[in-house]
Amino acid sequence: MQQMGHEQVVFCQDPNTGLNAIIAVHNTTLGPSLGGTRLWNYNSHEEALIDALRLSRGMTYKSAISGLNLGGGKAVLIGDAGKLKSEAFWRRYGKFVNSLNGKYITAEDVNTSKGDMEYIGMETKFVTGKPEYMGGSGDPSPVTAYGVYMGMKAAAKKAFGSDVLTGKRILVQGAGNVGQYLMAHLVEEGAKVSTCDINEAKLKQVVAKHPTIDVVDGNTIFDKEWDIYAPCALGATVNTESINKMKCPVIAGGANNQLADENVHGPMLVEKGIIYVPDFLINAGGIINISIEIDGYNKDRAYNTVAKIYDRTLTIFDMAEKAGIHTQLAAMQMAEKRMNEIAKLRVGI
Ligand code: NAD
Repeated sequence: MQQMGHEQVVFCQDPNTGLNAIIAVHNTTLGPSLGGTRLWNYNSHEEALIDALRLSRGMTYKSAISGLNLGGGKAVLIGDAGKLKSEAFWRRYGKFVNSLNGKYITAEDVNTSKGDMEYIGMETKFVTGKPEYMGGSGDPSPVTAYGVYMGMKAAAKKAFGSDVLTGKRILVQGAGNVGQYLMAHLVEEGAKVSTCDINEAKLKQVVAKHPTIDVVDGNTIFDKEWDIYAPCALGATVNTESINKMKCPVIAGGANNQLADENVHGPMLVEKGIIYVPDFLINAGGIINISIEIDGYNKDRAYNTVAKIYDRTLTIFDMAEKAGIHTQLAAMQMAEKRMNEIAKLRVGI
């Protein structure tokens, strides 16, 4: 907690429902902490805790750089999603969320759905990402993908002098929710899209929708040349081994925590001349969408706000270049500057 500057971490357990939860509140300078609930079969409590700490810190930066009045939080629930999920399980968890009195607002994440949010919502009002029929904003993935598309176009402008993606060879790693919506934009613009996934069913879905998309072997992606690499699966895919192999001038994708170690791999990318769009900047579409749900959801407002990722990405490239630092650091500094300035407003009336 001290290393990453967390305000509060809460452990919750309930033997009746099998609930084992960790809620991490990283920073509430800008507003209540908001972040999804991840249900995962972690190997240990320590592994779950580290995930909660890293993810909640990422949410602080994501909201801050996106101009939202929200802080960073995240919850992880430990166990097998197939065995644990039930109405009672989610409602018990909802009671724990409620006990934080709005300091933490939850949403969907890995292995949690709109339906689960509905159960949580029976016990607390501090839940977002509810279904559309409940006045919620629904699935955030299309909006996240739109933001990634905008950030990718900005990166193309920087790398190739034009943001037109027609004819560009783009690898989308991960054909899940975000990956599939992103590929739809890219195909529409006439990019040469390739994809890989460990799940064959997802690949079949993609090819059925877009027969021009090429499926490639995930183990050999860095042996090939791409114009743009879009990580849309797991984190830490940008690491020493992959960077050493990479033959692509741009990395722009939706996954969280893409750099295995930002202090090592941020500078390494600069050295290799690879343009990297910081993950928490480019994949903020989902949280922006949810923040608009809190005020009363409006789809046009959500997409217009997410489109600003394009200009923000170009600003970060300029800042990084002028300061001689890597883009992830420039984005963190921009987020921290906003938090520091707003914190000063709290002094006085
Ligand atoms: P998802 O689970 O729908 O998709 C992830 C896909 O990656 C799955 O199809 C999975 O099979 C595949 N995958 C897993 N390991 C792989 C590997 N080694 N190689 C290739 N494919 C692999 O998740 P999603 O909602 O599309 O999210 C994708 C990423 O974007 C995650 O890192 C998530 O945290 C991040 N993200 C998502 C949102 C959102 O709105 N959904 C918002 C912000 C960030």
